[in-house]
Amino acid sequence: MAKIFCVANQKGGVGKTTTTVNLAAGLALVGQRVLLVDLDPQGNATMGSGVDKRELVQSVYDVLLGEAGVAEARVRAETSCYDVLGANRDLAGAEVELVDLDRRERRLAEALAQVDAEYDLVLIDCPPSLSMLTLNGLCAAHGVIVPMQCEYFALEGLSDLVNTIKQVHGNLNPKLEVIGLLRVMFDPRITLQQQVSEQLKAHFGDKVFNTVIPRNVRLAEAPSYGLPGVVFDSGARGSQAYVEFAREMVERIQKL
Ligand code: ADP
Ligand code: MG
Repeated sequence: MAKIFCVANQKGGVGKTTTTVNLAAGLALVGQRVLLVDLDPQGNATMGSGVDKRELVQSVYDVLLGEAGVAEARVRAETSCYDVLGANRDLAGAEVELVDLDRRERRLAEALAQVDAEYDLVLIDCPPSLSMLTLNGLCAAHGVIVPMQCEYFALEGLSDLVNTIKQVHGNLNPKLEVIGLLRVMFDPRITLQQQVSEQLKAHFGDKVFNTVIPRNVRLAEAPSYGLPGVVFDSGARGSQAYVEFAREMVERIQKL
């Protein structure tokens, strides 16, 4: 049975897509069968996996509207060895079109159930909002991975997300839990970041992943080559951290 995780944070630019793409590649490297689902109409995770969003024949949009199965719509990220259920601008319309449909928040969950046996892990890259798309992700998932920068306002946004997760847990998906908070774009030379990092650990304990992802320009350069950093430059500090994070995830999953 596949374990399904959302990478979510309603803030933009906090490293969700970078985390989804590099974790997918890292997990594939350590031998896991991975499906990446892009739930953001920007399609950055699709492009960052080397799949051209403009050339998708079918996408997650068709799957949500029941016009295709995951098995038909997915494509292979060849170099990185994982599958991608891609997204493009079509998905921006899904929000409105879903309103009239039955069980509209369970569309992704039901579609993923069809390919459950084919994967060890499914990673869902969520858009920067708590929308119907994110809700579909949360209803499908066993857990949420929350990437965050150790900045002053980081904790503030977190409470909205935690409340949403609690509501989904209570009303729609009793198996949902926060798997962990991932510190990303970390710069240990900045005292404030160290302080916020300590606060996070004090407040959330072992819900904070041990792995810390450093700020590393190679991770930011990789998408323009259509590759996860982990594949683009495996020796870079950021890439090594994501592979370490993949190992940590595999360990955590065994305890779930
Ligand atoms: P989100 O999906 O949350 O909007 P992204 O993953 O797109 O965030 O990251 C936002 C920007 O920060 C991107 O330009 C990305 O390349 C860059 N970035 C993400 N993580 C790192 C990192 N560890 N080091 C350097 N740049 C990063
Ligand atoms: Mg993104």
